[in-house]
Amino acid sequence: MSVEPPSGITCAVPWPACANCRVGLVSSSGGTDTCLRCGRQSPSAPRGALCGQPATHMIIDRQGDSGLVCDAHAAVAETLLQGAQIRKLSIDRKEIDL
Ligand SMILES: [Zn+2]
Ligand SMILES: [Zn+2]
Repeated sequence: MSVEPPSGITCAVPWPACANCRVGLVSSSGGTDTCLRCGRQSPSAPRGALCGQPATHMIIDRQGDSGLVCDAHAAVAETLLQGAQIRKLSIDRKEIDL
């Protein structure tokens, strides 16, 4: 039921989704990452490390900036970015403006 993303396009969100619930935003402080959804704590991920999961969604925020993200980050963005448009990528790339 899910559409295979175009190959070679990966999520470029510069912070990881929670490894436990997969959809939580991770807040970093004092060397510890805390998931804002499930509360799981883990040592901080390196800053600037990209998510790297296959991109499955495009997010367009209210300023018109767009980005390609994975399932987990699409779910995070849905919660986090009020007013953002989140579109599932189609395999023919018609919705991807590269
Ligand atoms: Zn979590
Ligand atoms: Zn991601």
